[in-house]
Amino acid sequence: MTRSIITAAEWTLGQDIGDDTPAGGYSAVCLSCGATGAATEDDRLPVEVWALKHTGLNPSHRRYKAVAETFWRVTPARGNPYQESEAPRA
Ligand SMILES: [Zn+2]
Repeated sequence: MTRSIITAAEWTLGQDIGDDTPAGGYSAVCLSCGATGAATEDDRLPVEVWALKHTGLNPSHRRYKAVAETFWRVTPARGNPYQESEAPRA
């Protein structure tokens, strides 16, 4: 019988803020009629204003699916063998 010890490498999860990464954004869909507000980047206020105006024009439409989109990146933590092979990001 062969016995081995495997040590898990540590990784860190965080927001991807690289130059080549899209900014993410916000959007909302009315659950009554499917209308969608224009998606925005990094500012949810215009989407909230759209939802309020949409309900103002359609008083029975009061529920929305709000989506906040972000991008994540997993990077090797200190001591992870992949840390030394990763090129520094700009
Ligand atoms: Zn609606």
